[in-house]
Formats: sequence, C-alpha cells, structure tokens
Amino acid sequence: MAATKQSTFTSRAVSRVVEAGNSAICAECQTPVKFTAKIKARQVIANVYVDGRWDRVEHYHEECYDQAGQPYGGAD
Ligand SMILES: [Zn+2]
Repeated sequence: MAATKQSTFTSRAVSRVVEAGNSAICAECQTPVKFTAKIKARQVIANVYVDGRWDRVEHYHEECYDQAGQPYGGAD
C-alpha cells in the first residue's frame, strides 16, 4: 500500500476466554461462540476499522480465526 500516513486506528484482534452468557456469533462459521464449563474455550474479538474509523466488532472461535488466516493480525 502506498498510503503516506499510517493510521493509528487499525483493525486488531485480541484473544479472550469465552465468558458465561456470551451470545456472539462467529463471523467465520456463523455459529454461536458458546461458553462451556468443561472446556475453557477461547474466542477472538476483533475491532474492525474501515477507512480509519471503528466500524464493528467481530467475534470468532479461536480456531476459526486461525482458519480464516488471522484477517486482523495475530490475536494476543
Ligand atoms: Zn467459528
């Protein structure tokens, strides 16, 4: 990209433990990112910026995010 200035508002992703009551839908496989008591499932939450402006939050199962090729970079 030939952009002259790097925006400080870029999309990025973080990895979190799925909490009880979570009702997000995975942006990759379109199924709920469910809390499970047995397995400490992890989800990736991505803040998506479009043209330097915050646009939306996307949720992913951690494995789906990897499968999607980490569209918003590596999740911490
Ligand atoms: Zn998924």
